[in-house]
Amino acid sequence: MAALLGPAEIRDLAGLLDIQPTKKLGQNFVIDANTVRRIVRVAGVTTGETAVEVGPGLGSLTLGLLETGASVVAVEIDNRLAAQLPVTVAEMQPDVYPSGGTARLTVITQDALKVTALPDAPSVLVANLPYNVSVPVLLHFLEHFPTLVRGLVMVQAEVGERLAAPPGSKVYGAPSAKAAWYGQWRTHGKVSRQVFWPVPNVDSILVGFDRTALPGTEAERLATFAIIDAAFQQRRKMLRQSLSVVLGSSAEASARLEAAGLAPTSRGEELTVLDFLAIARTAA
Ligand code: SAM
Repeated sequence: MAALLGPAEIRDLAGLLDIQPTKKLGQNFVIDANTVRRIVRVAGVTTGETAVEVGPGLGSLTLGLLETGASVVAVEIDNRLAAQLPVTVAEMQPDVYPSGGTARLTVITQDALKVTALPDAPSVLVANLPYNVSVPVLLHFLEHFPTLVRGLVMVQAEVGERLAAPPGSKVYGAPSAKAAWYGQWRTHGKVSRQVFWPVPNVDSILVGFDRTALPGTEAERLATFAIIDAAFQQRRKMLRQSLSVVLGSSAEASARLEAAGLAPTSRGEELTVLDFLAIARTAA
């Protein structure tokens, strides 16, 4: 049997499990081995390292990751998919379960947003993310798993472009500023809708990150993220106005912006995450 899943295998597995993919859980399964190999290659996954995958689904990407010799911790919310995954992997790549040795795949049946501990410390996050929760999942994993030094995920094209956008760009927003707290982001090319079953009605893109040193403490992160949220809730307004509620008043916001070396008339879309942190640090 082939080591990766193609359209026929996906159809058979879905039939076997009587799966009706749901939009709510972002269930669009990759049916193209070339796309899987591209993701694994760009992610740079190698033998011996541990990758964490969110939403393994029927196992398309999981098998690609395991093929490199890496170990995989897979977090899947759908019970049926989580239960089938070890069966599929054992059938297609028996060496993942060496007799008398340690299995290279661990499946955790849980909502990824609730996972705060993993059996193994992952160095890389690789996933074809459920699109409706992709940003919260990324921020959650970056917050809770400091061993993650890099990652490569497939997300909705607009979301990937936003994550990687620099200040001043039209699509720069709260997710861009928050993502920059943890590292550097860049897009790695679009992916055709035709590689999925069912075919989604949005375009997809690969986006990757390399972790950098945290710019501040956890308390400073919380304060910075609250300021970022306020700044982008009213992104067209000047910061002295958009931050007036979160910082107390327009006068207080102006004073804090000036103390941070920023013009009270500037707008959130012009500020880097370090500028937002500088505002947070002016707290008395
Ligand atoms: N990785 C598979 C592939 O490439 O074919 C499936 C990707 S599909 C876009 C997203 C997967 O995430 C589905 O299997 C879905 O059940 C799962 N999922 C959705 N929400 C989740 C959550 N909150 N936590 C964990 N898994 C989730």
